[in-house]
Amino acid sequence: MVPDPRTHPERIRLVLWDIDHTLIETRGVGRDIYQRIFPTVTGQPLHTLAAVHGRTELDIIHDTLQLHGITPTDETMRALATALADGYTAAIDELATRGRVLPGARAALADLATEPSVHQSVLTGNTTAVAKIKIKTFGLGEHLDLLLGAYGDDHQDRATLVTIARTRATNRLGATIDPTQVVIIGDTPNDMRAATMAGARAIGITTGRYSAGDLRAAGATSTLPSLVDLPRLRHAPTDRGTPRQSR
Ligand SMILES: [Mg+2]
Repeated sequence: MVPDPRTHPERIRLVLWDIDHTLIETRGVGRDIYQRIFPTVTGQPLHTLAAVHGRTELDIIHDTLQLHGITPTDETMRALATALADGYTAAIDELATRGRVLPGARAALADLATEPSVHQSVLTGNTTAVAKIKIKTFGLGEHLDLLLGAYGDDHQDRATLVTIARTRATNRLGATIDPTQVVIIGDTPNDMRAATMAGARAIGITTGRYSAGDLRAAGATSTLPSLVDLPRLRHAPTDRGTPRQSR
């Protein structure tokens, strides 16, 4: 008999999903929105967007401002983050049309939701506002408790986001969540490193630009070519021939 996670808090698993190139792809809409909003805040056209993969939005905004010779003050960074959220709000239809949910993502969320010990949320470099727009636009919110997650405007450092999410989950679920109870699913070495540094488990999905080797080198304990394979990994027999519990 499976113990009730409410009376066995050590059984709780907090699964934190990266969003871009793990659950969805905007297929260039995100970059286009940056092109649109950057001049309205800075008075300059966007000529270079800082590297985006696996980084937090605050990091991207900071470096993009510097690349344009603009001092990244708190005020300018906040203004760009707000304009970005407004840009996404204005582009919801375009996002829904041009972007897509990655294969297996919807089924993987639903499959994990059948496990009573699993609580799912996001750990993303996106700001809270943009993350919510993306999740809502693609109808992925049913099994995600977004109040447990951590976002790119919570902290610049991704590893710190894992601790923030764990603290939120501890408060919200009323049970202390140990780092070993956290699983990060993402597509970049930064996702894997953040998990490893925070003492969490990392599953790498090679639906972004990084290979299984890249993700393993950064600390992934498992890698998969797509989320189509996640339920199979979860239900795969262990060495003892029994199904894995929510891993
Ligand atoms: Mg990603």
